[in-house]
Amino acid sequence: MGFSTDAIHAGQPPEPTTGSVTVPIYQTSTYVYPELGRHTGFDYARSINPTRLALERCLAALEGGSHAYAYASGMAAIDAVMNLLDHGDHVISTSNLYGGTFRLFEHVLKRHGLEFTYADTAEPGALEKALQPKTRLVYVETPTNPVLSVTDLKQVADICKKRSIISVVDNTFMSPYFQKPLALGIDVVVHSTTKYINGHSDSIGGCAVTGRADLAERLAFVQNSAGAILSPFDSWLVLRGLKTLALRMQCHDRSGRAVADFLKAHAKVDKVYYPGLPDHPQHALAKRQMSGFGGMVSFTLADYDAAKRMLDRLKLCALAESLGGVETLICHPASMTHASVPAAERRRLGIVDGMVRISVGVEDVEDILADLEQALQAA
Ligand SMILES: *Cc1c(COP(=O)(O)O)cnc(C)c1O
Repeated sequence: MGFSTDAIHAGQPPEPTTGSVTVPIYQTSTYVYPELGRHTGFDYARSINPTRLALERCLAALEGGSHAYAYASGMAAIDAVMNLLDHGDHVISTSNLYGGTFRLFEHVLKRHGLEFTYADTAEPGALEKALQPKTRLVYVETPTNPVLSVTDLKQVADICKKRSIISVVDNTFMSPYFQKPLALGIDVVVHSTTKYINGHSDSIGGCAVTGRADLAERLAFVQNSAGAILSPFDSWLVLRGLKTLALRMQCHDRSGRAVADFLKAHAKVDKVYYPGLPDHPQHALAKRQMSGFGGMVSFTLADYDAAKRMLDRLKLCALAESLGGVETLICHPASMTHASVPAAERRRLGIVDGMVRISVGVEDVEDILADLEQALQAA
């Protein structure tokens, strides 16, 4: 089936008792056994819930995997995936990581004996150079947040396969509509479903998807053991959000391109970061690896004060963390999403104090451009 057909139907046959077209919210903690020694396939709702199961099956279909697991947040999903590792294992990660993931690695998982090396995985050869005999997992974000650099996923998958290293990709920025890491040979995809997958800024959630039965078995075990599951109501919201994922992504992409072009031509703007611009350092790779460029655009103004003047004057675009919703969200990475990244590291990554990041929503693009124009006059 096509992508939109799967988004609307995969894992969601009509409910058998009433024929309900939408998957009901099974708000229950437990299920009755018909007799001792036999249950219906549903025994306890941390282990299995029909609403969550429908979402997990739908997510597996959209990413082209065999198994998916839904968690209480994107961070819970990433934490669960890192539980594939043992004490003493070494991880190589993209250096320009989502701030919360960096914090989880450095301030939580390190204490459990995992070791981390950060490499600019967009740079050819950087991943191989960071390999150690104990490397068991490679963790990649592409495009990265907020500088949108792009890593060659086929290359990462090939390097990892040869050495039996688990490859993991955070696919939050592209969604499976524009990027399918599993088809390129990656082992596990993670998402913050909070962003494009749900798309309506009304739920926190995450997922992990894989096509490898051995990893799926361990992920299922950890999900049930650690218990960071997505609730039935949030599962239902994400199922509803998914139905329009293709429509929304097409619009995010169209308007993202328009905003990037507008900023590129603007006198107050120094630098624009968007994989769809021909001068983006990995533009050719982005065209090959992704089927769209998405709605995330970053740019730099002269300094912090210019950014503050602009952000304080916006009327339509909301100054907020998060991204991927139907509404345009705009943020200041250095003091908001990436505040937990040390200042020296931020500078090294190019996250300057004059940087602004936009998650272009699906409002009429003329209104978004007009708001940016009037606010930029203050910059
Ligand atoms: C938001 C985000 C996360 C964390 O997800 P939560 O749902 O907020 O826990 C992880 N990775 C990326 C790329 C994100 O944007």
